[in-house]
Amino acid sequence: MEKIFPITVLILLLLLFSGCMGNDQRIKKQYYPPTCGNDLCEDDEEYYCLDCNLSCKSEICNSKINIICENCTKNQKELLPTLFEHQNIIYSCLSYYYGYNPPRLVYHIITSNQGLNSCAKEEGCYISGGGFAERYQIKQGFIPGLREYGEYDVTKKKNVGFEVHEMSHIFTSYGLGEVPAWFTEGIAIYTESRISCHKDQVLSGKFDEFLNLYEKLKNSEVSLNEIAPFDEYYNTKHNSHIIGSLYFGALEREYGCNKECIAKILSSLHQYREECTSICFQNAKMNFPELINFSMNNNDLRIPLITNSIIKQKSEQIIGEDLSYLFNLLEITY
Ligand SMILES: [Zn+2]
Repeated sequence: MEKIFPITVLILLLLLFSGCMGNDQRIKKQYYPPTCGNDLCEDDEEYYCLDCNLSCKSEICNSKINIICENCTKNQKELLPTLFEHQNIIYSCLSYYYGYNPPRLVYHIITSNQGLNSCAKEEGCYISGGGFAERYQIKQGFIPGLREYGEYDVTKKKNVGFEVHEMSHIFTSYGLGEVPAWFTEGIAIYTESRISCHKDQVLSGKFDEFLNLYEKLKNSEVSLNEIAPFDEYYNTKHNSHIIGSLYFGALEREYGCNKECIAKILSSLHQYREECTSICFQNAKMNFPELINFSMNNNDLRIPLITNSIIKQKSEQIIGEDLSYLFNLLEITY
């Protein structure tokens, strides 16, 4: 017994020491953070490196869109080909409107979300623009379209709708990279409310609802804090959906910037991003964490090249007017 104890301790110490050695060796091995533009597609880079290719994950796929079913219901599965058809229409329509195509495949994932409320309206409920759009993919817990009275999800082929809001986020992200939250939400709401891609597409009324607030804000009947409180999702001072809608609403109403004019702003921002290489790109990533400084070119969607001041500058160039008043009114710093 007396001999076994010191031997056990010795073995334990040896094990501990060899463990430490292993760790030391791991620390010494140099760490290379994922880098866009080095012709390698490292872990997680598909989220933000345009030079990482994406491939189809299911058979409902072409070179533009891939509809993926993740634990979706039997009913949802049957409706996916119709959703695919519709989303291809939206894709072509937005390509025309934005003036560019997303350079990679867009994943559109449908899952069965058990927590939805049933439709309580006799005439049915048109649901779209929910879920998430994360740079290159849309995730929704339902099929966009018309839920009939008492239904929790779309159940019939004829009721499958069109998803414009989330697709707009994908176009913004792919064409402009990281942009201010108010801008991506504003243009998504503008697009789903103003851009008609198909006769069966139901335009959203959100934009006009928010637009009515603009007049009141301008006449100081309400404050910005009252109509656009803190945004918990984006952690911004004011609600991004509302600020963005008020911005594009004011461009339309106050500055006569119609659909064509807004398309020109989008296209000029896209062109700016495309041309922002070398010094322009180096400057844009200066204020970012070291990890991001390894990005070698503007194929990295994380670098925010399109800032508030670039949006102001490009919008002013297209409209031909100084927009300082509007930026100040909406408290968008530039
Ligand atoms: Zn959105």
